[in-house]
Amino acid sequence: MRGIIVKSLDYKEKSKIVYIYSILGLKGYKVLGVKGKKNVSSGNLITGNIIDFTFIDSSFPTLQEFYTIKSNLNCSNDLKTIEVLRAMIEIINYLPEDSNNELMYPFIEEAFLKILELDSLKVLSIFLIKMLYPFGVNPELKKCQRCGNTNDLIGFSITDHGALCKNCYKYNDNYLDYWQEYYYKKLPIEEYSDCDFIKLLKEIEKYYLINAHINLKLHL
Ligand SMILES: [Zn+2]
Repeated sequence: MRGIIVKSLDYKEKSKIVYIYSILGLKGYKVLGVKGKKNVSSGNLITGNIIDFTFIDSSFPTLQEFYTIKSNLNCSNDLKTIEVLRAMIEIINYLPEDSNNELMYPFIEEAFLKILELDSLKVLSIFLIKMLYPFGVNPELKKCQRCGNTNDLIGFSITDHGALCKNCYKYNDNYLDYWQEYYYKKLPIEEYSDCDFIKLLKEIEKYYLINAHINLKLHL
């Protein structure tokens, strides 16, 4: 089974507890006797890594075998990448318990696989917009939120929770196209259009705060 390492803690003298997000959701696993040993395997249990693993199930499951598919945190990471990883991991920590993990896992893994390959801000932007759904936040992007107009939509309004038409929107900074594309389309991440991701992320951050009550505290 594949999973993403969300957190890894020391446990008793020689063991660790590792929190892994997979199709089973976010779960803690005991990893016996890894700490202190200079073996390769314990070094792989690093936050943000994608691993393949087996486990022995019980009320507190034990990680059995594991190997790293993709390492995301390494000594050559820049601060931007570290911040993107932190924000994505934070979102996984906040996921509601009743989330459909089987449905979401493939997209989440894709995002973690591509952080280092693509513009990490692009990965984060698309990740955050797609992840609104499990938090029950569904912006209305196909109809003006003030007058109901479905034509001439030109803006995205955080406080109106969706699209506004040209009669109702007074700014000239159309990011609605990107919100629509990232929210509705299903493409490999690299195929989505590019935009000013820093600017978009500022909108996304405010939107999360107001509608999902999550303060991402992005430092980009
Ligand atoms: Zn309108």
